[in-house]
Amino acid sequence: MNLKRICAAQLPEELGADCFCPTCQNHLVRTECADPWAICLGCKTGHRFFIMPEPPLSVDSGRAASLRFPELNDRSPEAVASFWLSDASARSVLNAQLAQILRAVAEGRTAIDEPTFSFCPICGGELSEYEQDDIRVQGLRCPIGHCWYLRGGHLWAPIAGRPVGLQAEYSDAVLGQSISDWLKGNALLDRQLHESIRHVLAEYTRNRIERTTPKVDLGGRGK
Ligand SMILES: [Zn+2]
Ligand SMILES: [Zn+2]
Repeated sequence: MNLKRICAAQLPEELGADCFCPTCQNHLVRTECADPWAICLGCKTGHRFFIMPEPPLSVDSGRAASLRFPELNDRSPEAVASFWLSDASARSVLNAQLAQILRAVAEGRTAIDEPTFSFCPICGGELSEYEQDDIRVQGLRCPIGHCWYLRGGHLWAPIAGRPVGLQAEYSDAVLGQSISDWLKGNALLDRQLHESIRHVLAEYTRNRIERTTPKVDLGGRGK
């Protein structure tokens, strides 16, 4: 099988030494995360943003379900998630949204709210909406004139001829909704969803429901 190689995300110069949390304006610094190919930037308040590696072409991610990984038999959901995130051949066919979901599963972190985009990551200036032509995205601009586009928790700008983007960490609600969309599935999604990942998502959903459903005291009934 001829797969495109996965390349680790690059930290653009503009977001290097001195950049700012789009939610709280504190400094953003490089932080550890469970995705070895992504760059995680976090502030001291706990907001996290990701620069993701270039996603696989759809022709490649569309092959994911048909691949065989015998080494995944009998592995825990966290181990399966870590495998898909780190193994180069698996990762080169992993849908980008699934990568975000698996990272959240591997880390077991809870994020109540999705970080918002109120400040420019480059200069920390307040972002305000501006009119631009693409109705699918929101245009945001800082007083200095850095122009960004925002859609679905993803803020990006063309910098030095290529897009620079920050993906906000999924909140628990967004994570739960994304997982349920994948499990509900359709022909397009199913081709990208390997059985081992489907199992991880189903297990995560089951545990989440157990965690969030209040225990009912049966008072001796139901025994
Ligand atoms: Zn912050
Ligand atoms: Zn700016």
